[in-house]
Amino acid sequence: MHNKHSFCAYTEKIIGINIAYIVLRNTIIGDRMTGYKTYEYLWLDGYKPESSMRSKVKATDAETPPDWSFDGSSTQQAEGGSSDCLLIPVQTYSNPHGHDIVMTQVQSADHTTHPSNFRAAAEAVVSDDWWFGFEQEFFLTDPETGEPLGWENGEPRAQGDFYCGVGAGNVVGREISDAHLQACLDLGITLTGTNAEVALGQWEYQCLGKGIKAADDLWVSRYMLYKIAEEFGVGVNIHPKPKTGDWNGSGMHTNFSNEEMRSNGSESLFTSMCEKLGKVHAEGIEAYGSDNDMRLTGLHETQNIDQFSFGVSDRGASIRIPVYTVEHNWNGYLEDRRPASNADPYKILSHIVGTLNK
Ligand code: MG
Repeated sequence: MHNKHSFCAYTEKIIGINIAYIVLRNTIIGDRMTGYKTYEYLWLDGYKPESSMRSKVKATDAETPPDWSFDGSSTQQAEGGSSDCLLIPVQTYSNPHGHDIVMTQVQSADHTTHPSNFRAAAEAVVSDDWWFGFEQEFFLTDPETGEPLGWENGEPRAQGDFYCGVGAGNVVGREISDAHLQACLDLGITLTGTNAEVALGQWEYQCLGKGIKAADDLWVSRYMLYKIAEEFGVGVNIHPKPKTGDWNGSGMHTNFSNEEMRSNGSESLFTSMCEKLGKVHAEGIEAYGSDNDMRLTGLHETQNIDQFSFGVSDRGASIRIPVYTVEHNWNGYLEDRRPASNADPYKILSHIVGTLNK
């Protein structure tokens, strides 16, 4: 009895001290930071053939995230003598777990569209009538060696058990995929699913959106993937063929539709769209990511990069007409299977919608 009483008193004392500390700390922080919010600005740099992502954090008492600037000479976006580039916020994602995320597009100091900015062109052609579902594939890697997770002792056994694999030895990195899914949903980004992919250490998530925001969301989802993997001490590789040989590459199959395709479709509508995209196949490949020739070989569920084809339910085609579309009396969507995992979604939108709007 005595002991129990002492214990309770002790606990109450500790709790009391903690509460006093929290009140004091909040008073100090509150006084110092009244009305301040923190934003994590994200932008795409000037590296080629694909941009990398950059970010920095701003604390401000402004109601909405203001325009900001950065040193473009450090990101291959300006010369040292005149190095200011501008960050223009385009989407803000409220983040319950940290700084709100601000997707921006880059302008030159005179407010013209920067040459590295492919969003402006996409925004000019894409309306919210267009929906996109990106299937982003990637490898999780050991940042020291660059090897995929699970490959520490050399090549794993042949592919077969790893796709949607269950159990130690059949799957690695599940905790990262799950944390990433939750983080994106908490930002209001519509990830509709995740799965372990065909190669060990390879994963996929599906990201759905409307209009230009679909591409903004995809970039932010990639950003969250890199950041969350960072917390686990793990790297991310979105190269389309990190491992040569009998290993699947990484793609970003792009499902798309507009209102007509969804609710007033016909076989001739879908066929004519595929044919239109086929006529500019080379331009599409140009827009769909570098080193894609290593992945589009005609093997591993791909069409050869030099050929264009389309077909119902055909995963060896450039564009697949899903059974769903046919079974719904030709109302539905198309899947362009050509984009690589490293493709810039802004360029994909520009190519698909720019071609089909003509
Ligand atoms: Mg896949």
